[in-house]
Amino acid sequence: MGFTVDPRVLRGNHFRLMAKNVPITVARGDGIGPEIMEATLSILAGGGARLDIEEIEIGEKVYLRGNPAGIEPSAWDSLRRTKVFLKAPITTPQGGGFKSLNVTTRKAFGLYANIRPCLSYDPYIRTKHPKMDVVIVRENEEDTYSGIEHRRTYDVTQCLKLISRPGCEKIVRYAFEYARAYGRKKVTCFTKDNIMKMTDGLFHKVFDEIGAEYADLEKEHWIVDIGAAKLADTPEVFDVIVMPNLYGDILSDVAAQIAGSVGLAGSANIGDGCAMFEAIHGSAPRRAGQNLANPSGLFLGAVQMLVHIGQADVAEKVHNAWLKTIEDGIHTYDIFREGVSRQKVGTREFAQAVVARLGQKPAKLKPVDYSKAPTRPLTSRPPYQRDTAKRELVGADVFVFWPTGTMDQLAAKLQPLAPDGMRLEMLSNRGMKVWPGGMAETFTVDETRCRYQLPEDKPGSISHEVLEKLLNRIRQAGIEWVKVENLYNFDGKPGFSRGQGQ
Ligand code: NAD
Repeated sequence: MGFTVDPRVLRGNHFRLMAKNVPITVARGDGIGPEIMEATLSILAGGGARLDIEEIEIGEKVYLRGNPAGIEPSAWDSLRRTKVFLKAPITTPQGGGFKSLNVTTRKAFGLYANIRPCLSYDPYIRTKHPKMDVVIVRENEEDTYSGIEHRRTYDVTQCLKLISRPGCEKIVRYAFEYARAYGRKKVTCFTKDNIMKMTDGLFHKVFDEIGAEYADLEKEHWIVDIGAAKLADTPEVFDVIVMPNLYGDILSDVAAQIAGSVGLAGSANIGDGCAMFEAIHGSAPRRAGQNLANPSGLFLGAVQMLVHIGQADVAEKVHNAWLKTIEDGIHTYDIFREGVSRQKVGTREFAQAVVARLGQKPAKLKPVDYSKAPTRPLTSRPPYQRDTAKRELVGADVFVFWPTGTMDQLAAKLQPLAPDGMRLEMLSNRGMKVWPGGMAETFTVDETRCRYQLPEDKPGSISHEVLEKLLNRIRQAGIEWVKVENLYNFDGKPGFSRGQGQ
């Protein structure tokens, strides 16, 4: 049986060879990464984790060798082979051109679900929220993280927020499956669909649709702003919260911090075939090489990994030993508190303290019990059924560069260019309608959206050729168009929003 592990890990510990070993890929990362990985692996080894470890190099050195992705092509082969990645934090070098390795890995392997349990360890770790026990399920691939950004004019930059129906269905179903599998009672959805009615509206709609299949679970939706305020103030009213990528990124850090410390939270990134486990914090370069860092975030990520690879027995043993260590007041500097903590320890000594408590359970903190942890992947779902609605082209939003001149002047130039049957419906600037009937007070920038459309009360559709001719006419009239967004109806209903004030 193959057994590969970095010799440094084996100091005094031995992975058990009796049951089948599971291959995993490990990256020690940058900054505090190597120290917290060493500590984590030593606890897993002590707990009898059955692992074949393949090591890959990622991060700063790889970036600086001229690889903008921060990972060598050969390292992908290891991930493809093992499908399980335990990753320490890395340092992304300053300056342009370096792609986020985390975002690349999540997208390349389709790791659509990011799971971040945020739990308080009161009274051993300071928190204002002793009853907090929240799991944030964050969509991990879409939203503004698609990385599609443009600058077309002097004044305006844009970032595209992409939300897809299959993306929503995957993450929302995962959240409900997770809640059910882990005995949770309620799933809450956060969106901003009062403003982003189409994108966040789709996420909310899918939440309602899929939620209806989970009669055993309580469901609720909050607008993200007031939801965030409630989460920061009274987190104990939440259980599992599912949200789109950007809100989840921000609020999972808030949740981890108010539970005790960002240094304590681990996360799982789950896809249909692969999974990645990590701490939620970064490489903390200022703390590197000093045996100071708290390894708990990465360790708790590794606990999720053990459950994922079917070693719930080991996960339970090491997790309970970790809880006992926290309860015994053996704390790294970041969570050390006079009067509560008993001993301030370094990274290595903390790991040794956990290993010394293997087999023990906490007396006051609630011990973990993974005996009912799911043994099947939570990623199965019905096949995706694409909408069959009739899709018709009914117009276009043509964005033009219009740095000087009034909106009335622009409209006067554009109105006669409308193809037969279509009309110039409105002009808007940064989304606000400025013609017809704009307000003199509205501030405008050098890019204006011009909506040409078939009248709403006249059914029908237009061809792409008609739009191409329209664009040519606009250019010939001396106006530079900078972007076109087609307008489609779906079963007669508009697949586009109205302008503010339209
Ligand atoms: P950071 O999370 O590294 O550090 C923030 C603060 O928390 C610092 O004061 C640090 O000392 C403290 N801290 C973090 N983890 C700790 C731990 N385990 N024990 C004790 N204290 C801890 O965030 P940053 O300083 O903004 O970023 C540093 C680098 O990390 C940057 O290059 C950034 O790009 C990178 N980063 C990487 C990841 C990742 O790889 N997943 C995530 C976030 C940031």
